[in-house]
Amino acid sequence: MSSAATDAAKGSVTVSNLRKTYDRSPGKDSAYAVDGVSFEIPRGSFLTLLGPSGCGKTTTLRCVAGLEQASSGRITMGGQVVFDSATKKAVRTEDRPIAMVPQSYGIWPHMTVLDNASFPLRHGRNRQRGKDVRKRALEVLEQVGLAPMADRWATQLSGGQQQRLAFARALLGDPEVLLLDEPLSNLDAKLRERLRHELREFQQEFGVTALYVTHDQAEALAMSDIVVVMNHGVIEQIGTPAEIYDFPRTSYVADFIGSANLVPVLEASRSGDVVVAGTPVGRVTCGRRTQATTWERREGGFVCVRPENIEVRPVGNGGVTESEFPATVESAEFLGDRMEVVVAAADVRLKAVARAGAGLRPGDAVGVRFDPATTGYLTS
Ligand code: ADP
Ligand code: MG
Repeated sequence: MSSAATDAAKGSVTVSNLRKTYDRSPGKDSAYAVDGVSFEIPRGSFLTLLGPSGCGKTTTLRCVAGLEQASSGRITMGGQVVFDSATKKAVRTEDRPIAMVPQSYGIWPHMTVLDNASFPLRHGRNRQRGKDVRKRALEVLEQVGLAPMADRWATQLSGGQQQRLAFARALLGDPEVLLLDEPLSNLDAKLRERLRHELREFQQEFGVTALYVTHDQAEALAMSDIVVVMNHGVIEQIGTPAEIYDFPRTSYVADFIGSANLVPVLEASRSGDVVVAGTPVGRVTCGRRTQATTWERREGGFVCVRPENIEVRPVGNGGVTESEFPATVESAEFLGDRMEVVVAAADVRLKAVARAGAGLRPGDAVGVRFDPATTGYLTS
């Protein structure tokens, strides 16, 4: 490969058909912790592996880092192959252009903040010497707001500051790719929210490619360019946060991201651009195209609609309109700016959002309307 081609690809990552089993006994399919995972991270992008505990996020990340050897597949970084089971190539972790930020920060308590930060400059792939080390480390500490604390012991930092130090230290290794495994999960909710913005800003400022792992869907939506939703070692969907939220392809993704209503479908038929779904609640028009539809009529599946796309209206003597379903309020929670309500319509429970002033109470008779433009039909 020419050096120009290498430069253009610098920081990009491709993972192709990655499989990993921790089980040495052959022939057990269920033993794959990661089972045929492929994705690409363009240079400078932030990609998040999202999924519940045990779905294979850490295993994937560790294979990319070279801390685990995949059973099969191929991984490239900056256009260079770092792992390929077909040619038995496996570049050592220390020779891959990466840095890792672990969940526990990996800060050394017996060192100062500055010495912690300088470590990759003294010992890493791009070793430097003497005064330059201190100067460079201080520059990056300054950028993450830790320069005034450079001479303190690392243990004197708060949780959030330790997280920033771990980030600064990782960046000082001058990686092309930063690997982060649930780096915020040890912090309290408020701090987590603040640091996720900071982390994202630092990542963009430094122009480093990021592979991030979390089980927290809000974190994934807030931080990522690309979200990879995983389930039992396989990928359910890859997309931008908006694509994943608005156009989930499976009920698993819809359920995992945000809170979706999934109404079981008895029979669905396609009519032009929309799917009309027969449900226990009634006939629902699904105008949102979440999947390619090649069929005319089928059984099963789900109507998927977000709470914010369901309108709930108290009905007086007039009863419900043609576009509404009759329902009863089961619970109503006042949240200041809005009400979150659960209504029951023909034994189906639906989460919905109502105006703060709607004054809904349990037992109230309401009319429920699904917004057809944002209601989708999912086959599985
Ligand atoms: P996640 O990070 O999404 O929680 P992991 O990648 O840690 O998931 O784990 C995926 C699967 O692999 C789980 O079933 C887990 O029990 C298994 N696993 C992970 N690490 C090991 C290991 N070192 N030895 C055996 N099984 C493991
Ligand atoms: Mg994990």
